[in-house]
Amino acid sequence: MQENPTQKISLYGMLPRDIGALLPDEKTFRSRQLFTWVQKGISSYEEMINVPKRIKEELQYQRCTLFSSQIIDEKIDTDGTAKLGIRLQDGAVIESVLLTDEHDRKTACLSSQVGCAMGCAFCSTGTMGLIRNLEASEIVEQFHHLQNRFGSISHIVYMGMGEPLANFEAVRTSIKILHHETGVNIGLRKITISTCGLAEGIRQLAEKGPHVKLAVSLAAADNQLRSTLMPINNAYPVEELQAAMQTYQKATGRRITLEYVLLAGINDTRKAARELISYSRALHVIINLIPWNPGAGLEFTSPSADSIKRFAEYLEEAGVQVTRRYRRGRGVNGACGQLAVKHQKPSD
Ligand code: SF4
Repeated sequence: MQENPTQKISLYGMLPRDIGALLPDEKTFRSRQLFTWVQKGISSYEEMINVPKRIKEELQYQRCTLFSSQIIDEKIDTDGTAKLGIRLQDGAVIESVLLTDEHDRKTACLSSQVGCAMGCAFCSTGTMGLIRNLEASEIVEQFHHLQNRFGSISHIVYMGMGEPLANFEAVRTSIKILHHETGVNIGLRKITISTCGLAEGIRQLAEKGPHVKLAVSLAAADNQLRSTLMPINNAYPVEELQAAMQTYQKATGRRITLEYVLLAGINDTRKAARELISYSRALHVIINLIPWNPGAGLEFTSPSADSIKRFAEYLEEAGVQVTRRYRRGRGVNGACGQLAVKHQKPSD
């Protein structure tokens, strides 16, 4: 986002040390105290009842605000999936989704960019192109909007709009904030980054951390087919992606999820399954089969339930671990690959 002198600076994007840097004359415990208040999801300084007025005034003088974004739309599907439309300070609009499973476990699905540059053929967000990266504060605020609205959230996936590893530093900062012990303290095992396969980003994540769970959208294990579905494959072919995943596994010891969106007649064939089996042999993975969710203007079809079952059984017979994602959020266009905002009006 361009620097704008009237732009407010959201405290939601700050770690205790950042808050401390704004208040050099205050005792160090204040920065943690302020961080804890902010990460309760508050929306006004008045709520910080044990913080002296002079500190609140100083923060306001420095143009610091609490929420810099606001909810402008809310849709709830019959399966309980909720989608929020959130307007950012510059007028851009993003979407965030709350998924609730059968054990009432709530997962926040957060956006990392406005739009996305990756152009995956099966994804509505890809049709928007990239408008801009989100700031760390704008990512953290999505979590708090969802939690304030729907109650305590235990898990996070970076699987909303955008490619999180293409906005690496802001995503890393947001994870540090949401994982911080004096804030909401979500465990790293409960946070997943989902990438379309930026091998360089995976290597950086292995090297620098945080070592969260990793999900990689594969869609095909064959270079020719994958390049037609996911243009990122031209930059990082499946072999390089596999090597990056091996590096991540070596650094973290974590199993990776391979997301495999199923497109009827395209990647649900016997041949595609054989290639997927052979590809996954060199990795410690679970394959998540995702029946394609229809998106506006995209001409794919979802395989039949029988064909999905056959594909899954073929993988399982070969000893590959498989899960099948239940189609959640379709009714509100909040399912995987369905997030897209039609009218973007960011101001200059
Ligand atoms: S699937 Fe993910 S990476 Fe690909 S276009 Fe959609 S949002 Fe971007």
